[in-house]
Amino acid sequence: MNATCQCGQLSVLLPEMTAAVVACHCRCCQKRTGSPFGVLAYYPSALLKITGVAVKYERAADSGGVFETYFCATCGSTVYARAAKHPTMLGVAIGAITEAAFPAPIRSVWEESRHHWVTIPEPAEHFSHGRP
Ligand SMILES: [Zn+2]
Ligand SMILES: [Zn+2]
Repeated sequence: MNATCQCGQLSVLLPEMTAAVVACHCRCCQKRTGSPFGVLAYYPSALLKITGVAVKYERAADSGGVFETYFCATCGSTVYARAAKHPTMLGVAIGAITEAAFPAPIRSVWEESRHHWVTIPEPAEHFSHGRP
C-alpha cells in the first residue's frame, strides 16, 4: 500500500492499514489541507519507506514543540507529518492513500473549530482541544 502526492514524486510505502487514525479540526490542519479537517494515520517511522524529495514546514504545536509537515515541492500535496510529542511516529495523510476501505478515525481532536456539518462517527473519542 502506498501514500503518494498528486504528481507521484513523493511516496510512502506502508506495511498495512492501521487503526491509529486521528482526525484534527484545528485551524492549522484546515489550512494545511485546504479542507475542513485533516486525517492522519500514525505509524512507527521505522516501518515506512519514503521515496522522493519532501520539503519540511515547521510550525509551533500547541503541545509546546513543533509540528512538521512534509510536502511535495512540485505539486504541493502534504504526504506525511510528525508531531514533536511523538517523534518516532509519522502521520501519513489519509487522502494520499488510495484506499477507501481504510479504518475511520479512532480519535477526533480540536473539535472547538470543527465545521458544523462534519461528523466523525462513533465510537471515536472526541476532544474539544488536543488529547490531554
Ligand atoms: Zn507531487
Ligand atoms: Zn490539527
